[in-house]
Amino acid sequence: NSVSGDSIRQRFLTFYASRGHKVLPSASLVPDDPTVLLTIAGMLQFKPIFLGKVPRQVPCAATAQRCIRTNDIHNVGLTARHQTFFEMLGNFSFGDYFKRQAILWAWELSTAEFGLPPDRLWVSVYEDDDEAFQLWSEEVGVPVERIKRLGEEDNFWTSGVTGPCGPCSEIYYDFHPERGYVDADLSDDTRFIEFYNLVFMQYNKKDDGSLEPLKQKNIDTGLGLERMARILQKVPNNYETDLIFPIIEKASKLANVSYGIADDQTKRNLKIIGDHMRAIVYLISDGVVPSNVGRGYVVRRLIRRVVRTGRLLGIKGDGRGDLEGGAFLPIIAEKVVELSTHIDADVKNKAPRIFEELKREELRFVQTLERGEKLLEEKLADALSSAERNGAVPCLAGEDVFLLYDTYGYPMEITKEVAEERGVSIDIGGFDIEMEKQRRQSQAAHNTVKLEIENGDNIAENVPDTEFIGYDSLHCKAMIES
Ligand code: ATP
Ligand code: MG
Ligand code: MG
Ligand code: MG
Repeated sequence: NSVSGDSIRQRFLTFYASRGHKVLPSASLVPDDPTVLLTIAGMLQFKPIFLGKVPRQVPCAATAQRCIRTNDIHNVGLTARHQTFFEMLGNFSFGDYFKRQAILWAWELSTAEFGLPPDRLWVSVYEDDDEAFQLWSEEVGVPVERIKRLGEEDNFWTSGVTGPCGPCSEIYYDFHPERGYVDADLSDDTRFIEFYNLVFMQYNKKDDGSLEPLKQKNIDTGLGLERMARILQKVPNNYETDLIFPIIEKASKLANVSYGIADDQTKRNLKIIGDHMRAIVYLISDGVVPSNVGRGYVVRRLIRRVVRTGRLLGIKGDGRGDLEGGAFLPIIAEKVVELSTHIDADVKNKAPRIFEELKREELRFVQTLERGEKLLEEKLADALSSAERNGAVPCLAGEDVFLLYDTYGYPMEITKEVAEERGVSIDIGGFDIEMEKQRRQSQAAHNTVKLEIENGDNIAENVPDTEFIGYDSLHCKAMIES
């Protein structure tokens, strides 16, 4: 299949190989860089070269880099284009070619190689980057109506608080050209998808925030593999590409639901599993062990979210229904491993260990959930008897709902559902107050983390030993973005 995810990756690498790039393997998800928790972009392994700390081995390179962005976790299954785990295809120049060549090749790759119709492509440049604007308009011939100038937030790239940085230029695909040019907004994701980002790395950002010109100008790019697959395979979102959908199908089977006719919430839950299972398997394969600190905390929370989501979908045990104490994560992980050949061939060797780890972690968490079930029964009985004594309406206190959520992994909606079946209401206001208290606490914890990152200490040792604090957001943004 000429547009399979695997072939898109291969065609990208071959395109740049035949233009003088050395194809290098993906780096680990655990970066060799104390300022970043996990690998968030293809450029990370080249940062020392970009900074001039290490001599380049080759003038330019191309990779398919596995990446994790926990700051996108709240988008998983909600937007069509974000996962926590994705592959970033990248071409890099270490003081070799610069802006003009990068733009010309990106255009040629998108149109001649991948066959995207030129009139479906829009580009953005950094607001002051007249040079890039002119290259797109005059050399490539993109009509000026389809070139947008964007500000710092979108189009000035930095790798962290300090480090290499520079203006960007992005390429977007237009799913709805019939909507015309008037008021077209590249951030409208019902119409556009950003798929390729070119960073023209010209500066090093210093501790005091000042920009120092790099001795050699570099190119760093990222093209989202699942996004290109989504466009070329003509499916409505990244999750329905051949890179992720087989995992979703496996989960659907265990849950005994059919994705095609499922409601939106069910689809979203299946997408969460499809995404998180890839993240989990590749993290464990790269040596991350579930724990309460640092990277281990990220993987633990992803695992727990999958377990909880699976239960919401009605997956019980190993999904075969006849094995007491069975685990379903290893079964879904088999599919992830099956799809791993060209992402990381090593995963297959490590599979037995990964399955073991998943089983242990899942069963441990299920026990916690079941202890919570008992506690919930007790609290409901208390609420009923005290209501009867006082002639009041039975209600579960906000603190109890929160305790169940926080310590026992019980989502508020589930507690509410179970309680209502017994004619007990729950104090949602009280629960929200507890949540807010905790949000403030964890915010404070992460501010500490951030300072420590700025001091360049080893983050994995400095992340506070936090208890598990809920599922629906990983408050790892500060850690990841720093
Ligand atoms: P967006 O604005 O859509 O969140 P981004 O600007 O944050 O994307 P970049 O940091 O420019 O993304 O990364 C380079 C490319 O990697 C993007 O153009 C996109 O194709 C891909 N990409 C980024 N984040 C994700 C993600 N969470 N899931 C899938 N692909 C992604
Ligand atoms: Mg983003
Ligand atoms: Mg963007
Ligand atoms: Mg971008």
